[in-house]
Amino acid sequence: MTGKVYLVGAGFGGPEHLTLKALRVLEEAEVVLHDRLVHPEILALAKGELIPVGKEGYGKKTPQEAITAMLIALAREGRRVARLKGGDPMVFGRGGEEALALRRAGIPFEVVPGVTSATGALSALGLPLTHRDLAHSFAVATGHDPALPLPQADTLVLLMPLHALAGLKGRLLERFSPETPIALLARVGWPGEEVRLGRVRDLPGLAEGLPSPALLVVGRVVNLYGELL
Ligand code: SAH
Repeated sequence: MTGKVYLVGAGFGGPEHLTLKALRVLEEAEVVLHDRLVHPEILALAKGELIPVGKEGYGKKTPQEAITAMLIALAREGRRVARLKGGDPMVFGRGGEEALALRRAGIPFEVVPGVTSATGALSALGLPLTHRDLAHSFAVATGHDPALPLPQADTLVLLMPLHALAGLKGRLLERFSPETPIALLARVGWPGEEVRLGRVRDLPGLAEGLPSPALLVVGRVVNLYGELL
């Protein structure tokens, strides 16, 4: 009998942000393939075999094809597999690619949503994404590739920004004034959590020495956050 694969979001921080469904799936899974953005206290809740995959922190990066092949092979052995990812599996987590590969291989799967860092890390710190007077829209984009134009929104949340900050600054100045407030949020919900406030003009220096993972918030809501602190 074919097993089943659950693409599970672990949330951005510790176990308190795990959904009840994610917890149940994690407890019932025979094998758990997890990436490096999953909090150790969440991994401790798993009862099955833990297999680290994905980027950094575990020596070599596991190629995406190898991860997908592993999921398919385990399911074909009849195992119940959890593929555990930081945040939400469908937000910059390759969840879509894995889902497609599983569908093509005829493997039953289910996606279990998680609290994404793109909104959850801000809320957990009390930083609003929208505000009646200050921001009517927000957008989430990858900051990884400054060759890509940024979306238009009152509040911008950029994931994976740290390696490309100089180029990103140029992109931000196409949309925002140099005086626009920004916040760098690092390791939210993890040991070593750090928040830095500044303005677009302070990049890239403001991020110097900041630990990862981190995200960048741009927009007038950051002023409000400054007042709330
Ligand atoms: N699927 C994940 C995102 C994966 S991309 C999600 O939904 O959250 C990885 C990026 O997410 C990091 O580079 C960083 O920008 C952001 N990120 C994830 N966890 C974070 C945390 N605890 N604090 C700050 N940023 C985080």
